[in-house]
Amino acid sequence: MAHVRTPDEVAGDRRAFGDVREVLAGRRRVPLDASAWSMLRLMLFKAEGCDVLLTPSAWQLWHGSGPGSSRYMLRAAPACVSQLREWSGATLAGDELRALLPATTVLWRGQPTWPLAAHQWWVRDEDEQVRMALRPGDVAPAGLPWPAPLASRSPRWRLLEPARPCPHCQRPVERARDLGDALVCPHCARSYESP
Ligand SMILES: [Zn+2]
Repeated sequence: MAHVRTPDEVAGDRRAFGDVREVLAGRRRVPLDASAWSMLRLMLFKAEGCDVLLTPSAWQLWHGSGPGSSRYMLRAAPACVSQLREWSGATLAGDELRALLPATTVLWRGQPTWPLAAHQWWVRDEDEQVRMALRPGDVAPAGLPWPAPLASRSPRWRLLEPARPCPHCQRPVERARDLGDALVCPHCARSYESP
């Protein structure tokens, strides 16, 4: 069952979203804490990068693999964005920020932890939402177009009710990757025409 936020949580989320915008504008700096540190890692450890959507009620993250977006606690967002901004040395200009995050070694409590490859960082502030894209790369994204969304490259899933046998291995399929006109069997990984 979905968690219904308490009024305090709703107010806290809205405050965190406001803080993200203050951080992007360079008016505020928020130090990393443990939950923001793990979030930062989630945003940066995938080879394909990630897409981020922040609103006053949610923080969603898309990687190029996996069935779709994941939602995270907004209260970790200001510190994450603050760290990215510090690495990039850039602030929002108008409603956009495009910057390079140089390769670095991520420090946690003063100790080196994991190596971070250079990333390109795009940000667009749309008032009631902030979009971000992070892609591994060492070319400054200033003149580059916004990257293609990762979500569209994610596999979609199709639920079959009742389960149907795969025409190749005959095993029952309840959930299959959906390629549009074909499904991929989760047991034998062969594709077949959508029923
Ligand atoms: Zn099969």
